[in-house]
Amino acid sequence: MSVNEELAIQTQGLVKYYGRVQALFGLDLEVRQGEIFGFLGPNGAGKTTTIRCLLDLIRPDGGSVRVLRMDPQKEPVAVRKRVGYLPGELHLEDNQTVAGELHYLVGLRGRSVDWQEVVKIASRLDLDLKTPVKNLSKGNKQKVGVLQALMHHPDLLLLDEPTVGLDPLMQQEVLRMIAEEQARGATIFFSSHNLSEVQETAGRVGIIRKGKIVEVAETEMLIQRAIRRVRIRFKQAVDVEFLCRIPGVKLLSGEGGLNATVQIDGEIDSLIKALAAFSVSDMDIERPSLEEIFLAYYESGRKEAN
Ligand code: ATP
Repeated sequence: MSVNEELAIQTQGLVKYYGRVQALFGLDLEVRQGEIFGFLGPNGAGKTTTIRCLLDLIRPDGGSVRVLRMDPQKEPVAVRKRVGYLPGELHLEDNQTVAGELHYLVGLRGRSVDWQEVVKIASRLDLDLKTPVKNLSKGNKQKVGVLQALMHHPDLLLLDEPTVGLDPLMQQEVLRMIAEEQARGATIFFSSHNLSEVQETAGRVGIIRKGKIVEVAETEMLIQRAIRRVRIRFKQAVDVEFLCRIPGVKLLSGEGGLNATVQIDGEIDSLIKALAAFSVSDMDIERPSLEEIFLAYYESGRKEAN
């Protein structure tokens, strides 16, 4: 496989079985250096499996992986040194304080960490480093997970649901930290079920369904090119049937000829030009959120399966 200098992550034809269960079906993924890439997919789609293959925590049964231009199967230590990883389920030692646990992780991964930096991040997360791990709430455990992933300011962050279990203020703080890491030059690859946060943060998104990537796009483009709903109010009643003849336009309703609602797939330009022949008093364009787009992919997948 050719190694692309611009890519922080590259997988080709990744296949993974757990016994007889196939989790990945030839997954191709490219994450560019310096971008924030949101990884979306329903439960069981293969997000965690993909992330674990990137760090050689599990071995794929087929395909290839490059992380920061290295093969994680050949250079797992070198890869892990330059990556910050937040697992979905972080295991912490109960008989430690948070500070003790973090010192242990630093030693384990052979990294150099500026302790002042740890104190600073902990304070932003409102996390007391002296707390015994066994007393941590779920949200505070998640903060430890975020902190241990970020504390050495790695070149690549692999974050499995970074804001899960955090209150809204802390979610925003973590998203700010992610943005700051990107500004510093890091690449961020994160999975999430919170689509508004992905829409807010990620420059590009990839949608995984049943162990395969079904879409990769700029977040903004995905929203722009999605089906929109347009409500039109005419000054005088018109025969709204003309709307059906515009390419990409479907008439949903046209009560009394004064109001019409259409669905438009693609460019809006031809609709605007057709409307110029009439007196329009108001128009309302509804853009779907990333959430609706994602649900559309998810629903079509479910229909295919049935
Ligand atoms: P979620 O959003 O629920 O975390 P996910 O997208 O991360 O899901 P994975 O955890 O990667 O999905 O799971 C992909 C598939 O592999 C699922 O069908 C899951 O049941 C299966 N799977 C994952 N881990 C194991 C395992 N250790 N043993 C057997 N099957 C597994």
